[in-house]
Amino acid sequence: MSQITKIKSIEHLTHDVLHVVLDRPEGLNYIPGQAVDIALNKPEWSEKKNCFTFTSLPEDDDIEFTIKTYPEHHGITNELLSSKPGDEVIIYKPFGDISFKGAGIFIAGGAGVTPFIAILKNLEKQNKLEGNKLIFANKRKEDIILENHFNSVLGKNFINILSDEDLEGYEHGYISPELIRKYADEHLKYYYVCGPPPMMTAVEAHLKTLGIAEEFIVKEGF
Ligand SMILES: Cc1cc2nc3c(=O)[nH]c(=O)nc-3n(C[C@H](O)[C@H](O)[C@H](O)COP(=O)(O)OP(=O)(O)OC[C@H]3O[C@@H](n4cnc5c(N)ncnc54)[C@H](O)[C@@H]3O)c2cc1C
Repeated sequence: MSQITKIKSIEHLTHDVLHVVLDRPEGLNYIPGQAVDIALNKPEWSEKKNCFTFTSLPEDDDIEFTIKTYPEHHGITNELLSSKPGDEVIIYKPFGDISFKGAGIFIAGGAGVTPFIAILKNLEKQNKLEGNKLIFANKRKEDIILENHFNSVLGKNFINILSDEDLEGYEHGYISPELIRKYADEHLKYYYVCGPPPMMTAVEAHLKTLGIAEEFIVKEGF
């Protein structure tokens, strides 16, 4: 089943990430953390489905996505760079395995933060955000999505790690077992992990090394 909707606004959040707002199709429901296949409703693009995560909340009037663009792939994200309000999008049925199970440490790589944008926004709205931590891995400071937002809602519980820049106030390098141990807390039982495949493989191995049971690891690969 699919529905057609329209882009309401589209703008840059960072140098390579877009914030896309769409009219909410009638009857569309989802839970924070879920994703959906979308395609562009124009010749040669309507069959090319790609998956993106809702970064709006289910009760919002519009639906929103936060999309990292790859011009060199000549795929949908490159097409979105020249899309404009009024352009049509085909949207399919929401799905996805990442949802909130209990207080935890959210570990994201790049655009893998998108399910956590929705989940943390939802917790904030319910006044249940306190204590949860976000460890966000990026190459450089300019790549960090919603840095000001996360700083203001999470404060010291927002931990950034940069692989290609060594800056004061930011961890440097790749996520390691030591880094996870440094921020672990016995009250934070769950580990939510989302990012590109190499990052997922590494972080899952680190969690195993730290003796975290499978049942406390909630993950989705991008
Ligand atoms: C459940 C889920 C949720 C997701 N949610 C989000 C989200 O909210 N935000 C987000 O930004 N991303 C998200 N992603 C990732 C997102 O789906 C992909 O990054 C996106 O579809 C890539 O689009 P593209 O423009 O590169 O097109 P693609 O269709 O991926 O690529 C177009 C073509 O480029 C070529 N290509 C692919 N990779 C490379 C490469 N590395 N180098 C050179 N050429 C290449 C291939 O020939 C391919 O056919 C999610 C993924 C999953 C699985």
